[in-house]
Amino acid sequence: MENKDNIEIIGSGLKCDNPKCDWNDESIANSELDKWINAKCPKCNEVVLTFEDYERAMMLDIMVKVINEMTPEEIEQLSKHKKIDTDEDFRNHLKSSDFYKDAEGIDSIEKGDVSFYVSTHNEIKCTSIKNVDNNGK
Ligand SMILES: [Zn+2]
Repeated sequence: MENKDNIEIIGSGLKCDNPKCDWNDESIANSELDKWINAKCPKCNEVVLTFEDYERAMMLDIMVKVINEMTPEEIEQLSKHKKIDTDEDFRNHLKSSDFYKDAEGIDSIEKGDVSFYVSTHNEIKCTSIKNVDNNGK
């Protein structure tokens, strides 16, 4: 099995933006999202996916693909302008970006490969982050 995924997005699916509504369907794949543009929430009838939401989700998809096709050397190049030696450097690096700074679990993250949950509603934002188990690495 090829294990080249540098990052992994866990949890896709759709959830309702209405704070009073708890509808969500995690079985919806990213590739099916186009069918949900401007679709109404089955529970509260609000639009669950605007075209902007959709565009953000697709953008994220592309970002992940691009990163996952990079070699470890290329990833290294990416972070070269920042000095990341320790776990603390790594955390600070993540926290310096709006994308990660409010993610759950960020305070216990260690240097290395991470997987994370991403919300694409209103903005692309990491909601939760954890280290990937690298067995045999
Ligand atoms: Zn709803």
